[in-house]
Amino acid sequence: MGALLVQLTDVAVTYGSRVAVRRVDLDVEHGRQLALLGPSGAGKSTLLHLLAGELHPSAGAVHRPGTPRIGMVFQQARLMPWLTVRDNLALGHAYAANADVRDAPLVDELLDLLGLTAHADAYPDQLSGGQAQRVALGRALAVRPDLLLLDEPFSALDPATRGELQGWLRRHLTERGLSSVVVTHDIDEALLVADDVVVLRAGGTVARRWSITPATNHVTAASHPLRAQVRAAYDEPAHDNGAPEPGSDRGRHGRRIHV
Ligand code: ADP
Ligand code: MG
Repeated sequence: MGALLVQLTDVAVTYGSRVAVRRVDLDVEHGRQLALLGPSGAGKSTLLHLLAGELHPSAGAVHRPGTPRIGMVFQQARLMPWLTVRDNLALGHAYAANADVRDAPLVDELLDLLGLTAHADAYPDQLSGGQAQRVALGRALAVRPDLLLLDEPFSALDPATRGELQGWLRRHLTERGLSSVVVTHDIDEALLVADDVVVLRAGGTVARRWSITPATNHVTAASHPLRAQVRAAYDEPAHDNGAPEPGSDRGRHGRRIHV
């Protein structure tokens, strides 16, 4: 087990009378990639906010030893239309919390790695959706995050661009020894980018979790031994009452199966 970046212990989040998350245990470890799957409203984005330290749980504990630096990527690129690609990518440096990571060589390197150098002086309205999302990825990476949190980052992109960026992300995270949590509805995406896969069910509880050997491309993702099981967990009807994960004693690793 790697060093812990964030640990959620028996957390719950309620918004008024609505329970968004209940009784969730989640470990995010240094150098590992985790995918969070589950139907809309199952609490995935809420968990990301907890991991980011932006939200306090209604119950349970969030442990963030070392207070990891966070980079965030959303479904929409959310670029500043009046800034160039380069300035958007460097934007995280403008925030006081990241002032110590002002790093022009890194910005140039990320522009290069993301194939954006030729567009460095362009404005967001001159970019394709895929290019804009590359800028958003670069902006998140430019603060040298310990943990990258991605909320359905590629779901608005066409399949070819999505596949390209999934491959890029996995390679980049692995090469740099970074950690990530990616929320996705795409099982293949989870099997391509993640070492740990967690499926939430409606009602905000964990249905199943696995540690996996990720697929190397879309062809092997399609025949991944875990694909059918993840699909089945995803499609499982919600019979939620905060019930334990099947076969588990609710232990954090009780239902971690290696495939
Ligand atoms: P997901 O990302 O899996 O779609 P969310 O974490 O966004 O789910 O939301 C989980 C539940 O909490 C949903 O029922 C949603 O309507 C509710 N919820 C999320 N954010 C808020 C909020 N700020 N105020 C009230 N309810 C919220
Ligand atoms: Mg969401």
